[in-house]
Amino acid sequence: MPMRALFPVPHPFRSPSADTGGASPAFLPVGHDHAQCRRDALDKAEEQCRQHGARLTDIRRKVLDILWDDHRPISAYDILHRLNAQSAIDSPHSKPAAPPVVYRALDFLITHGLAHKLTSLNAFIGSAHPGRQHGAQFFICRSCHTVAEVRSARIGQEISAAAAVLGFEVQAPVVEVEGLCPACRPAHSAPCAGHDSACACGQSEP
Ligand SMILES: [Zn+2]
Ligand SMILES: [Zn+2]
Ligand SMILES: [Zn+2]
Repeated sequence: MPMRALFPVPHPFRSPSADTGGASPAFLPVGHDHAQCRRDALDKAEEQCRQHGARLTDIRRKVLDILWDDHRPISAYDILHRLNAQSAIDSPHSKPAAPPVVYRALDFLITHGLAHKLTSLNAFIGSAHPGRQHGAQFFICRSCHTVAEVRSARIGQEISAAAAVLGFEVQAPVVEVEGLCPACRPAHSAPCAGHDSACACGQSEP
């Protein structure tokens, strides 16, 4: 493999800032039009599936819709719970879905780049940049659990370069970063017990 491919040189005109895929600020303010986020995500998913000849079946769509209840990750168990609660309202005589139904739907959504698994939380989130399976960086707020997904080409390149040095084959170039989102930072700006004045870690224990 040529060295250029291993150590790609950043394009001089390319902005070094994180590429949020054209989405407006990654952490959206409280009270933003989330119905619009949800509609956009479902529309993009339909489009993505159409382009790749995949079928966004009713159950896959429902699971994706639940993932977009907000910008927080959700466990498979909670997805199942919400799914069955909703179907009990929609069709009271239907049998509740079993866990494999949810896992199969999640598998499909992840394979088609419509959702991600956050390993550190063992939970799932709708992809902010739907597209084929893709590397991404997740900024996870420890306080409100909101997650922002960023796809930085630069970070992807750095991971590739570091992996090449190690002779490592990257299969899931996903980075999970914990911290405090803009909305939660002010509430945590006082230093924690045992921490210095610059502390903003959000943890009460040092
Ligand atoms: Zn939203
Ligand atoms: Zn994504
Ligand atoms: Zn937060």
